[in-house]
Amino acid sequence: MTDHSDCNSCNDSSCSAKSQNPQENDEAFQARQRLESRLCNIDQKILVMSGKGGVGKSTMAVSLALALSKEGKQVGLLDIDLHGPSLPTMLGLNKQPIFSNDEGIVPLEFEGIKVMSIGFMIQDVGQAMIMRGPMKHGAIQQFLADVNWGELDCLVVDCPPGTGDEPLSAAQLLGKGAAAVVVTTPQDVALVDVEKSISFCSELNLNMLGVVENMSGFCCPHCGEVSNIFKSGGGEELSAKRKVPFLGKIPLDPRMVLSGDSGKPFILEHPESEAAQALTNVARKIR
Ligand code: ADP
Repeated sequence: MTDHSDCNSCNDSSCSAKSQNPQENDEAFQARQRLESRLCNIDQKILVMSGKGGVGKSTMAVSLALALSKEGKQVGLLDIDLHGPSLPTMLGLNKQPIFSNDEGIVPLEFEGIKVMSIGFMIQDVGQAMIMRGPMKHGAIQQFLADVNWGELDCLVVDCPPGTGDEPLSAAQLLGKGAAAVVVTTPQDVALVDVEKSISFCSELNLNMLGVVENMSGFCCPHCGEVSNIFKSGGGEELSAKRKVPFLGKIPLDPRMVLSGDSGKPFILEHPESEAAQALTNVARKIR
């Protein structure tokens, strides 16, 4: 990958960041160049989305980042759930200070993955982030442009639920070539909203990588009987209906909740489990 750390030293005359737009002031032009030069060093950008909260987006984003990193890829993980960031807890990084140097904000590291979340910047975890759309756009732009991501094969972006400001800003800022994975649970109340995420991706020309059906079946560790607590197959039917790839089903595993709460990702703690293998298989398909 060529280093594009500075637009002035780059020879790509076709790049839109080479010249200032007539309606753009100097400050806006420099901000756009800063963003473009960071993004030029990132090969793939993948948004992990869903129409509903609590369906496993953050779990999927962490598992995808870890699976790619394990294969030797340079990976970044950005949490843009500004009102409810989960990554600090899920990765056990909530007590670490953030600092900047000449090259920008230094991301935290987890198992070789560069991680950034608004949660790293808030002292009191119980404090609400009160932000309107334009502030959110500015925060996401800063996360992309001012964090020193370096050269990455893939940046995984963990979105909040829904099709509001944060995924919209991320999709617009990441631009052409960004892709999306949509996570759902199998029951209709989730699927109705998740279908909106698929339509959001097509409206914004995001590359649709596919749908993951999480919390799909629970195998009793005592008797081995499978119970479909949230039903099963809904995500697969939705992908067939919307003609998008189906990436796989992840079963419920109560140990996943404990792993998430203790900051030790499930696929590292229980790699042999059916759920960890299903998560890894989904990550392989995405890759
Ligand atoms: P979201 O990002 O969509 O809000 P999370 O990834 O934070 O969802 O998951 C919500 C909760 O459900 C977390 O406690 C997580 O550990 C748990 N969880 C996610 N997937 C599973 C699963 N397959 N089995 C059991 N618990 C799960």
